[in-house]
Amino acid sequence: MKKQWIALLGLLLFPALLAAQTTAKSKPFTLILAGKLLDVRTGKLLINQKILIAGDRIEAVGQIETKRALNAEVIDLSDKVVLPGLIDAHTHLTMDPQDMGYSSLGLSIPRQALTGAKNARLTLMAGFTTVRNVAAAGYSDIALRDSINAGEIPGPRIDASGPALSITGGHCDNNLLAPQFHAQEDGVADGVEAVQKKVRENIKFGADVIKVCATGGVLSKGDDPNASAFTMAELEAIVNDAHRLGRKVAAHAHGAEGIKFAVEAGVDSIEHGSFINEEDIQLMKQHGTYLVPTLYLGDWFLENAEAIHVPPFMIEKAKVVMPAARANLAKAFKEGVKVAFGTDAAVYPHGLNGREFAVMVQVGLSPLAALQAATINAADLLGWSQNIGAIEPGKWADIIAVNQNPLDDVHTLENVPFVMKSGVVYKNEK
Ligand SMILES: [Zn+2]
Repeated sequence: MKKQWIALLGLLLFPALLAAQTTAKSKPFTLILAGKLLDVRTGKLLINQKILIAGDRIEAVGQIETKRALNAEVIDLSDKVVLPGLIDAHTHLTMDPQDMGYSSLGLSIPRQALTGAKNARLTLMAGFTTVRNVAAAGYSDIALRDSINAGEIPGPRIDASGPALSITGGHCDNNLLAPQFHAQEDGVADGVEAVQKKVRENIKFGADVIKVCATGGVLSKGDDPNASAFTMAELEAIVNDAHRLGRKVAAHAHGAEGIKFAVEAGVDSIEHGSFINEEDIQLMKQHGTYLVPTLYLGDWFLENAEAIHVPPFMIEKAKVVMPAARANLAKAFKEGVKVAFGTDAAVYPHGLNGREFAVMVQVGLSPLAALQAATINAADLLGWSQNIGAIEPGKWADIIAVNQNPLDDVHTLENVPFVMKSGVVYKNEK
């Protein structure tokens, strides 16, 4: 028994050991030789650039000939295209696709946190150095964030929400069980006072951002994606409290009315936006609200849902909502709503996040706009522009490299051979 435990511990710790090894630096400075450096602000491909890194930050970019550069540890990416680490503004790291239905009821919070550790590593290795995790049970995402920040396990930076706010019976409640089981999710609150208390409670327990389910959803029982959930008064109370306490608000919203309520209440982003209409589009442009489309999930889910035993009532909703979303979001893209990249990874396997780019382009964004959604725009949505989103002096050294210019073929972002976060190399493959 003891031996088994030690072996198991070894397996669990292996990624951490790997990370610890890559952390150990013999020299205080790192110099990346970037054969091609993609400027995500302009789309310009700059040739033969150098990036000087001091500790976890970028110190200089361009043609550097200082003494520090001479003494630095050199990373040769002369045959690669170098760009900033990607940002996914909508993940659920503590969940997996096979946990969408009744099987989720057997999972403890500690088990979900361990699932999160596995998925955090997969996400980082896919080139995503930052994620915004919008909804997790029992503050498991906050524990995951703290463990990554403490250097215990490899993973992206996490902007974490904790439990999502939901009306009773809403998308972010748990409606799977019969009444006698009294099942309710952590984030359920009804009425102005109750939602204020829930926002404050989430912040008390470490939430960086507030997630609210403003309409029904797809992967839940008995709720209608088209129906708005919270009242205007409740939504305003949520946003006012969150903003006063320095937190942004992300609103899950499919139906047109729920999108309108959320935007008028002042949320910072609309997640999914499947049935967005012309009025919503104009309102979002007026308010500067970000849209976080989650498009690729439709392809994966409709193909695999039956095989992983997702309940039929969820699949029926998906068949209506997911295809409709593409047509409606195409209009929002065309009319110039601000877009931040998000995947809803958990609905499909973590690590495939990069597949979202090709669908965004298919639905109408230019490759540069799709890439900006995952860098400078997502950084702006998180309120972290000072530190992430571009390769610039003073920012954290979150840097990836790919084999081709993504502006020629965004599919190259699905296979990221080089990943650095905070100046630490986590992946460097040929
Ligand atoms: Zn989601």
